[in-house]
Amino acid sequence: MTADPVLRDRFFKKYHGAEIQNCIQCGTCSGSCPLAEHMDFGPRQLFAMVREGDMSAALHANTMWLCVSCYHCMVKCPRGISITDHMYSLKKMAVEEGVKAPKMLHLYLSFNAPVEKHGRLTDVAAMAGFGLRHPLAALGNMGLGMKLAAKNRLEFKPRTVSNIAGFKKVMEKAKELERLS
Ligand code: SF4
Ligand code: SF4
Repeated sequence: MTADPVLRDRFFKKYHGAEIQNCIQCGTCSGSCPLAEHMDFGPRQLFAMVREGDMSAALHANTMWLCVSCYHCMVKCPRGISITDHMYSLKKMAVEEGVKAPKMLHLYLSFNAPVEKHGRLTDVAAMAGFGLRHPLAALGNMGLGMKLAAKNRLEFKPRTVSNIAGFKKVMEKAKELERLS
């Protein structure tokens, strides 16, 4: 492990992550996380790494990308730590630090593109966006896509929400708040 206290302190200050120093390593978060078995490290271990300054390992973990914001961990944490919020911060920091984007980020971006344009998801546009970035993964899901299409469960044609101008204003505001955060 190579400790990077400067980056760790940036997480504490810029990303309001200092409260993870209150973590007592009880493991309740990892034990209650529905995705823990797929994560490189559960939230408990991830926070231990950050506290130790092992930022490279922490920022390269898939943990925060697999977090589905279910808040199970947060409501159960005996120290009231905002675990889910820290997952968002670690994602943001990983992007800012230029860590190679994982597939999950590309899935988010592919999902987001049609939503930003039309105010709602168009399944095929999202799948195509992801497929362009990860053709092999997309091919692997082809069978599932065909089954969904056969059952009429795939939306091919974009449908735009009625107040798209209002929706875009909301998106702009969200981006502005993100820039300020
Ligand atoms: S539940 Fe809270 S105190 Fe316990 S390990 Fe997780 S973050 Fe730390
Ligand atoms: S909010 Fe994220 S880290 Fe916490 S339990 Fe849910 S998936 Fe796991």
